Amino acid sequence: MRERKQLPYTQLEGLSERQLKEHHDVLYGGYVKKWNEIQEKLASTDRALANATYSEFGELKREETFALNGIKLHEGYFDNMKAGGSESAGMIKEWIEKDFGSYEKWLEDFKALGVAARGWAILAFDLDEGKLYNYLCDSHNQGGVWNSVSLFIMDVYEHAYFLDFATGRKAYIDVFFKNINWGFVNAQIEKYKLQQFRL
Ligand code: FE
Repeated sequence: MRERKQLPYTQLEGLSERQLKEHHDVLYGGYVKKWNEIQEKLASTDRALANATYSEFGELKREETFALNGIKLHEGYFDNMKAGGSESAGMIKEWIEKDFGSYEKWLEDFKALGVAARGWAILAFDLDEGKLYNYLCDSHNQGGVWNSVSLFIMDVYEHAYFLDFATGRKAYIDVFFKNINWGFVNAQIEKYKLQQFRL
């Protein structure tokens, strides 16, 4: 059984508690609940009936990654925000400047991703390439690249902003950037010891 984390959502600039706690948190909790339910069902599902068009086993495995990435991406999204925000600094700033030319160029690309994506904009570190990439994900289990570590995550599903901004996604993205916890992103680089993969 997976437990839901208590996420730090309150008092972010420009995002209401109603938006964050009453709605986004409920959705996040739903992914945890469904992942647990899928694990229970997998324990007794008949593998002999596996089929690519339809099978209970196939559908459970398909939705297992949807639910688990829904959990991981939401936890990362909330963890990389904090009240008051911060300026980009440290290792992540250095790597962004080297891999994208400048922080401003990275930001332009990442914000455009936020407008273009149907689900997520993600800054990830590719372990094989030893560098950073911006990725667009239209769904929790679509658009990611293997052997990559997600470092900085922005939720651009309508449920992340619609109560506060209606269709104003660009305004939401600007507010999101007022609440960034770059210290958390740098801590992720340390946690996964990513320096050793840097080429
Ligand atoms: Fe979300």
